[in-house]
Amino acid sequence: MLGYSEAELSNDIDVWLSYFHPEDRQAVLEMTDAYVNGERADWAIEHRVFHKDGSIRWLMARGTAIQDQEETFLRLIGTTTDITELKLTEQALRRSNAMLKVQQDAAIDGILITDENQKIVSYNQRFYHIWRIPENIISNTYDDYQLRQTVLDQLKEPENFLKKIDYLNQHPEMISQDEILCKDGRIFDRYSAAIKSFEGDNFGRIWYFRDITEIKQAEAALRQNEQKFLQLTENIRDVFFIMAPDCSQVFYISPAYEVIWGRSCVSLYESPKSWIEAIHPDDQLNLLPALKALLKPEEQSLEYRIVQLTGEIRWVLTRTFPIFDDMGRVHRIAGIVRDITELKQIEAELKQYQDQLEALVIERTKELNAINQQLQQELRQREQTEATLRESERRWRTLMDDVRLLVVGLDTQMTITYANPFLTEVTGYSQAELVGKNWLDVFSPSQSGQAPHQSDFLVKSFRVHHQEALLTKVGEIREIAWNCTLLRSANGDIIGFLSIGEDITERALIERMKDEFISVVSHEFRTPLTAIHGAVDLISDGLVDLQSDRARQLLEIASEGTERLVYLVDNILDLERLESGKVELVKRSCDIGELMLRAVDLMQFSAEHSNVELLTFPISLNLQIDGDLILQVLTNLLSNAIKFSSPGSTVWLNAELRGAESLKSEQGSSLSSYLSACPSHTVYVLLSIKDQGRGIPFDKIETIFERFQQVDVSDSRQKGGTGLGLAICRNIVQQHGGHIWVESMLGAGSCFYVLLPASE
Ligand code: ADP
Repeated sequence: MLGYSEAELSNDIDVWLSYFHPEDRQAVLEMTDAYVNGERADWAIEHRVFHKDGSIRWLMARGTAIQDQEETFLRLIGTTTDITELKLTEQALRRSNAMLKVQQDAAIDGILITDENQKIVSYNQRFYHIWRIPENIISNTYDDYQLRQTVLDQLKEPENFLKKIDYLNQHPEMISQDEILCKDGRIFDRYSAAIKSFEGDNFGRIWYFRDITEIKQAEAALRQNEQKFLQLTENIRDVFFIMAPDCSQVFYISPAYEVIWGRSCVSLYESPKSWIEAIHPDDQLNLLPALKALLKPEEQSLEYRIVQLTGEIRWVLTRTFPIFDDMGRVHRIAGIVRDITELKQIEAELKQYQDQLEALVIERTKELNAINQQLQQELRQREQTEATLRESERRWRTLMDDVRLLVVGLDTQMTITYANPFLTEVTGYSQAELVGKNWLDVFSPSQSGQAPHQSDFLVKSFRVHHQEALLTKVGEIREIAWNCTLLRSANGDIIGFLSIGEDITERALIERMKDEFISVVSHEFRTPLTAIHGAVDLISDGLVDLQSDRARQLLEIASEGTERLVYLVDNILDLERLESGKVELVKRSCDIGELMLRAVDLMQFSAEHSNVELLTFPISLNLQIDGDLILQVLTNLLSNAIKFSSPGSTVWLNAELRGAESLKSEQGSSLSSYLSACPSHTVYVLLSIKDQGRGIPFDKIETIFERFQQVDVSDSRQKGGTGLGLAICRNIVQQHGGHIWVESMLGAGSCFYVLLPASE
């Protein structure tokens, strides 16, 4: 057993023990001690020993003690059996069992093993989890009855269950698989097969239980989905298909295919490419690239026409979706085909409508363009009109601003809405003082408030032309000739007046003067003309002998009258020429003394004739004057002085040089205003013509310088003269920048002064 010969083995316990495996030695000794001490009934142990060849052998040692009568141990006698093979087999079996156990425990199925007598041999963890075996039954190792009962209680059909077990036990060769329904709805898959040795011995059965509830539910859901899908695809009007990417096989085609293609689904299954043949020849060209694109991993869509067997054409829209396999390759093509014939028709109709609309829009645009152009033209015209209006308005305004006429705008309440600059100039009021004010309040305060301001009254009392006296700001009265226009709004209502007025104050004065002049002149003319007329009539009628004294007297009268007329006309013409500025002064350097002497010379005869002494004290001084005209002034004044002097009296003609300052003491009423207008350093020659005649009443001192003004109307008749002499004198003196005035006392005589500015 150990490979040693008997001679090689010494009869020594220690040597014997040395053959023992070190791990087992202690166990053998302890077991022996326990036996000897009566602690165990037998002496038996399995232990390992070393074989001579070094291998380990398992031995089974059994012994028994030989005791004497006092039960003292004398010998141990026993046998040793080599159980190495048995031990190895047992070890292998244990390993296999352990592995089986692990397998069982790791299995996802519940596993139950029963022996040939239907007794439970084992079950795994999963088994009692599935069958919800209570802990107490598990620990009560293999209590068959209770375990079976626990299972049966959960079943819907326990009898069938048991029947099947019996049947299978009777037919050990059978492999079975069935489903078990639980009361709570769970479903188990049961698989059972016989356990047989290689030799064919029957050791019982193995039962697998798998909870397939979820799988079943998923299956049911899947079936339901499939059902729904089928219902959907079978009922929708769209075609649904699944086919191979190269169109070599159709896996599914929904019944709508038959409607759209007008061909049976079966025909497509049989001939998977037959759907392509039905496509309109014109669209076939587009199809090839589309079919290639099917292999791309993205959604595709394509529109094309189907020609049905009947010839009817249908428009479709196909959309395809690739389905990928595990490797990510396209291995199916799913797609939906929609009949878009109606849509296309609507589209076509829409297109038609759109075309019509576009045509309409174009037409309308044309019209609008035309209108626009017209409007543009109108706008241009309007702009032009506006520009013209503005220009016209500007002209009017300029005219209004510059015109020497009064222009005023009034509303129906007589409120001033406009007043031009000339109106403000004439009236002395500013624009601000006029605009917004009532016309009557400003210019005719006496009338304001009395005249009703209602527009109807104004319209009734409206006169195109009228004259009106206007009170200026300084209280002066100006005579205005108005020309009025009614202003009307677009609908004809009167909205006010525009009046244009001419300041005719001066003209009216002149008119008056002209009237007076004519009456005076005609009067002045009539006297000599009557005399001439009478004389000439008498002579021409032959009533008077031409050679007689009477005739000579008459002729003299006629001649005097004629002279007087000539004189009158000369004077009038002189004055007219002077006043109208037709006489141009010929200023030359003249010695005033010489002029005085000449004047006295000229008047000497007349003075002597009237028995008046003429005295002069000339000063020699050169003046820039028109000598003839100044001489005319002097002779005129001397003539008057002589005329109005009584015989025996004296007339003086004097001259002196005076400064402006010294003149201020002089009395002449108009002198001071004359002097105030002259430079104060001017030096003057003051000529004086003094008489001792009848004098001039105070109130006539100014007026005698006016035309045809005489102190006494009889003067012209008695003294001769026209009443124009002084007017002529004044004009001449004024034209020389000088001044003429008179100082007089009635009955004591007069003194006429002529003041002429002397040259520097
Ligand atoms: P006439 O030709 O009438 O003299 P004037 O213009 O020379 O015209 O004189 C106007 C009037 O003035 C005279 O008619 C007279 O009444 C008055 N007058 C002029 N000079 C004198 C004078 N030296 N003495 C008194 N009265 C005079």
